[in-house]
Amino acid sequence: MPEHASGEALPKTMKAVVCHGAGDYRLEEVPTPTAGPGEVIIRVAACGVCASDGKCYAGAPLFWGDAQRVGYVEAPVIPGHEFIGTVVQLGEGAAERYGLALGDLATSEQILPCWQCRYCRRGQYWMCQAHPIYGFKQAAQGGMAEYLRFPADALNHRVPSDVPVRRAALIEPLACSLHAVQRGEIELGDVVVVAGAGTLGLGMIGAARLKSPGLLIAIDLNDSRLEIARRLGADVTFNPAREDVVQRVRDLTEGYGCDVYIEATGHPKAVEQGLHMIRKLGTFVEFSVMREPVTVDWTIIGDTKELNIHGAHLGPYCYPLAIDYIRHGRIEVDPIVTHTLPLDDFQQAFELVLSGQECIKVLLTP
Ligand SMILES: [Zn+2]
Ligand SMILES: [Zn+2]
Repeated sequence: MPEHASGEALPKTMKAVVCHGAGDYRLEEVPTPTAGPGEVIIRVAACGVCASDGKCYAGAPLFWGDAQRVGYVEAPVIPGHEFIGTVVQLGEGAAERYGLALGDLATSEQILPCWQCRYCRRGQYWMCQAHPIYGFKQAAQGGMAEYLRFPADALNHRVPSDVPVRRAALIEPLACSLHAVQRGEIELGDVVVVAGAGTLGLGMIGAARLKSPGLLIAIDLNDSRLEIARRLGADVTFNPAREDVVQRVRDLTEGYGCDVYIEATGHPKAVEQGLHMIRKLGTFVEFSVMREPVTVDWTIIGDTKELNIHGAHLGPYCYPLAIDYIRHGRIEVDPIVTHTLPLDDFQQAFELVLSGQECIKVLLTP
């Protein structure tokens, strides 16, 4: 352990999933991190596999680059940004700075802001120009390992010890859901559509419920997910495989369409569907990371409907809320976690997430 750090001495090496390239992820023995000044080490209790982890594994151009862009990921790197664990080492100054003690349950926001760029200086840290996210950059190793370092200047949060690990692992995705719902600027009585009832969409349904909309509609191709959507607060659910969902929403709104449409499916078709389903002057929130560029009729956005198009990225300022809502059961996350697998079975976990059918949230436990 470094000088001035406190905590327990850790084994020299640990088990970790290491991403070497698209489809080339290996379980390896790597050096265990230790806590330098301002740093925190947690023993990872669980780490969720995000859809973005799945897309990186599958070789999506956003991560590995193509003719238009440089890829985002820096291999080799340990993936995982949806982690929760117990504090086992505190570097000099870290306890005071983050209000953390050894043995606390803790997590850290997925982005490690540079605190130097114009966005960070204005408090818009989630749009940081450098934009390192845990699990994709070498300076930001992720949580699919036995131990994880929160680098100095990370945004760390203590999680009350009465929050079960299985729920606490949902803090990161729920924070993203909360931010997307905030971007929807839902008003009293609004008809709100959430397209996509995966981990993020389900969290958005729970969050939108707290806004007391007039009618909350969930759309998904999978009926069992729609059932969970109802449990989390959706008034009505539609499956586009069986019905004309645009018509159904128009029928429920005297032909006008929904006030707010939140796109969280990851499928290009859901963007077009939303543009047809939303009323004039409505607010369209785009959350998904698409595999490829989406083509739509932009005339609808301007000339036809004068829409507000709001992007949503990460969960800025939403972690404390997410922790509170999970802790007090104001948003139920238990039905979202469908699989928990040991770290050794990470390959199976990634395949499950990519297949997307049998699972919602898959957790890995070291
Ligand atoms: Zn994620
Ligand atoms: Zn920055």
